[in-house]
Amino acid sequence: MHEQHFPAADLLRSPALTTPISPHGLPRLPYDIVVIGAGVAGLAFTLRLPPGVRIALLTKGVLGESNTRYAQGGLAAAVGADDSPALHEADTLAAGAGLCDPEVVRTLVEGGPAAVHWLLEIGTRFDRGPGQNGGGDLLLGREAAHSRRRVLHAGGDATGAEIERSLVEQIHANPDIDVYAGAFALDLVIDGGHCAGVIAELAPGMAPVVLAAPVVTLAAGGAGQLWAVTSNPAGATADGLAMALRAGVAVADLEFAQFHPTVLAVPETTPFLVSEAVRGEGAYLRGAGETRFMTALHPLAELAPRDVVARAIQRQMGLDGRDHVWLDLRHLDADETRARFPTIGRELASRGLDLTRDLLPVAPAAHYFMGGIVASPTGETSLPGLLALGEASCTGVHGANRLASNSLLEGLVFGLAAADRLVAERPPAASSVPSTVNGHAPYGGAADPYLSPPRPNGITALRTQLQRSMSRDVAVVRDAAGLAEAAGELAAVAAALPAVGTDRDVLEVRNMTLAAAAIVAAATRREESRGAHFRMDYEGRNDEEWLKHVNVSANGGDEPEISYSEVTLTQWQPEERTY
Ligand SMILES: Cc1cc2nc3c(=O)[nH]c(=O)nc-3n(C[C@H](O)[C@H](O)[C@H](O)COP(=O)(O)OP(=O)(O)OC[C@H]3O[C@@H](n4cnc5c(N)ncnc54)[C@H](O)[C@@H]3O)c2cc1C
Repeated sequence: MHEQHFPAADLLRSPALTTPISPHGLPRLPYDIVVIGAGVAGLAFTLRLPPGVRIALLTKGVLGESNTRYAQGGLAAAVGADDSPALHEADTLAAGAGLCDPEVVRTLVEGGPAAVHWLLEIGTRFDRGPGQNGGGDLLLGREAAHSRRRVLHAGGDATGAEIERSLVEQIHANPDIDVYAGAFALDLVIDGGHCAGVIAELAPGMAPVVLAAPVVTLAAGGAGQLWAVTSNPAGATADGLAMALRAGVAVADLEFAQFHPTVLAVPETTPFLVSEAVRGEGAYLRGAGETRFMTALHPLAELAPRDVVARAIQRQMGLDGRDHVWLDLRHLDADETRARFPTIGRELASRGLDLTRDLLPVAPAAHYFMGGIVASPTGETSLPGLLALGEASCTGVHGANRLASNSLLEGLVFGLAAADRLVAERPPAASSVPSTVNGHAPYGGAADPYLSPPRPNGITALRTQLQRSMSRDVAVVRDAAGLAEAAGELAAVAAALPAVGTDRDVLEVRNMTLAAAAIVAAATRREESRGAHFRMDYEGRNDEEWLKHVNVSANGGDEPEISYSEVTLTQWQPEERTY
């Protein structure tokens, strides 16, 4: 295969996007472990650590605000009598379209039931009722591409909120954890090839400090805000991915972003996700003339894998000349539907829609990021001292397409496993703070742009420009011309970014631009269609050439921006770890 030059790859060498912030001269706070992210992954990891370990826990908003909190459908685990980890594994591998790491998938599904037990022990209140499919009294829902009912839920459709509530309650009860709510992690600190801490603003407007620790856990969630229409909350700006790229940490599978098929498309309102579980309970998708278009397209009809349904909706929208199709629950028992989906019902009512009586306008929206920081099931990355967990990581468990309700499970199972592994190793000790980062010379004295931030100028417009471009050209379907167009737009955004300061809005858009450039570079390179990555100019899966991962580097130097790795992603085995 000949190598071509891609415009997006140039951005991966742009000093404005890729130069990490220097820790030089910053005040230093020592900890045993720093955890960036308070969603299911970061919190499960933190809570599993033993008493006496000094932990700094960072989250951008109030504690509890995260993607986790908005999860509706639930958490998949093989706990039903008619189910088994082997069946869950088979469904996960099928959805992943050849790019899953089978060993990691097995670790995930086998760890599911014990992880559910742990959640129950800490007080998570899953929905219960009369025994169903042998799952004890735990009620199990069905979702797309699952061959069994295996989705635990809470409050009907408020599963993430209940999981987050129970985890946060435990965090409050632990005096060893310093919670920095409203914090913002800027860059990793590297000392002698080892992650030695993180530069962070501990509260909005505060000058950055170094949180120094021999172990840093990046559980900073996803990237939905890179697109104009997304189910993700405002904080999902791919900060973890951007930090990893700047630190030269291996990342992969960035071309695989999942678009949820059914996000409510009511003009002038915040996008709101209508869970897959709604189709799991029997809802239909209808196009113009109320035609059920999925029955003609896939044997599983509305329960086909997410990418198939999202593309089918996109196609139907084109055929109908509308910006949405309809989701229809009118044929289902109204009382049962209201009881099962109270949150969705309330949200719809606030927009003047009745869940049980109205046709609901829905369209695909950016939802979940399969790619990320390459990590083993116990979080090890290519950088010693750095662990990556949850949606920020790429463990190979989701392959080219995540199976619904497997991401809460991933954050939970691998979060707990990472803490167990860490505890089994020698206790970490506080480290020294280096004066250089990743081989780059530190900014110096008053000339340090971080010490004299400019006023952000038109930063919201740049953010919108980036998001619109990604939604237009790097969405459910892509082609070379659109991807080149997106690369051009990103270059324009990068060129217009104010000189780097400590203003969060600027830093977020800088992170988004770097992450988007890496996504466009990977999507341009993969000249086939697989899972969530669909190329109109390369329709069809090409196992002969593309049964491999695309890795992206923004580290500069002699390393190429794009490289490839074998389908098994767990390259950094626990025994190679050096704490
Ligand atoms: C609407 C919606 C519905 C979903 N439904 C389901 C479902 O039913 N089942 C399922 O399995 N999955 C679902 N998902 C996906 C799932 O919720 C997420 O993948 C999962 O919760 C991610 O957990 P996490 O711990 O990795 O990250 P998150 O929960 O996103 O947490 C990320 C944390 O990192 C912090 N952070 C980020 N950047 C920084 C920074 N620079 N500095 C400091 N802190 C930072 C954030 O503030 C936050 O605390 C859904 C997602 C959405 C948005």
